[in-house]
Amino acid sequence: MKSRILRGTALDGQVRIFIADTTNLVERAKEIHQASPVAIAALGRVLTATSILGVMLKGENDKITTRFHGQGPIGTIIATSNASGNVKGYVTNPQVMVESSIPGKLNVGGAVGKDGEITVIKDLGLKSPYIGNYPLVSGEIGEDLAAYFMYSEQQPSAVGLGVIIDKDYSIKSAGGFILQILPDTDENVAFILEERVKEAGSISKLIENSRNEKDIMDQLLEGLNPKVLEEYEVDYVCDCNRSRFEKALISLGKQELKSLIDDDHGAELQCHFCNKKYQFSEENLKSLMMEATNTDLK
Ligand SMILES: [Zn+2]
Repeated sequence: MKSRILRGTALDGQVRIFIADTTNLVERAKEIHQASPVAIAALGRVLTATSILGVMLKGENDKITTRFHGQGPIGTIIATSNASGNVKGYVTNPQVMVESSIPGKLNVGGAVGKDGEITVIKDLGLKSPYIGNYPLVSGEIGEDLAAYFMYSEQQPSAVGLGVIIDKDYSIKSAGGFILQILPDTDENVAFILEERVKEAGSISKLIENSRNEKDIMDQLLEGLNPKVLEEYEVDYVCDCNRSRFEKALISLGKQELKSLIDDDHGAELQCHFCNKKYQFSEENLKSLMMEATNTDLK
């Protein structure tokens, strides 16, 4: 079954909610990166959140990137989504293993670490992108993102993200929700929602145990007149191509290209997001060097 995001609302627009089932998408990311259980749990949470942030974008060519950088052994986690919610991502150390203090629970916070920050980059087609950041709270991703929304964007939000891994290391379920209220919403509503979110428990369990995203929405927003506004199909998609890597090589400049030609007699570049390899022969590099020279002269 394809990965999906439901966009809904309640209390005549005072509450908005996004619920994602990303089981399939996270499985694909695990295969691409040959990721360890804790690495895919962390990356899966970030991919899910970023895909939801993608469908929140307004312009069809808008893009959003989230970056989680703590002092833990996983290194940096990066994910990018377009406005359709199609997402891609990677972590610095996909084979990372981290001991867990709670049996059966993957120690995502330990892998990500603290003493770092979350950075959100929105490319809205303007001259320069919007960049926001906030210190990491726990490295558990959901909590970090909720704090970012609250203090960096002044948007009260509840964020639930989860990945459950089966005995055979396949992804049993993955998904998440982002629930936001208008800043001037009645305090009681905020309190009710907070309690509901606590009661509901783990989002990956909810996904495993419910028929669809609408069920989960009805459960979280019961009595608040919830409505489905839209449903999206989302996937793990890498849009890399040869010309993007040519541009990257040209931007190295003439000297660097010359040393690639003289010392290495060619170059192989690999995409971080999908691991596809691009080969550049000496001839290819020479013509790129010509282009670099032309650019220098401009
Ligand atoms: Zn790629």
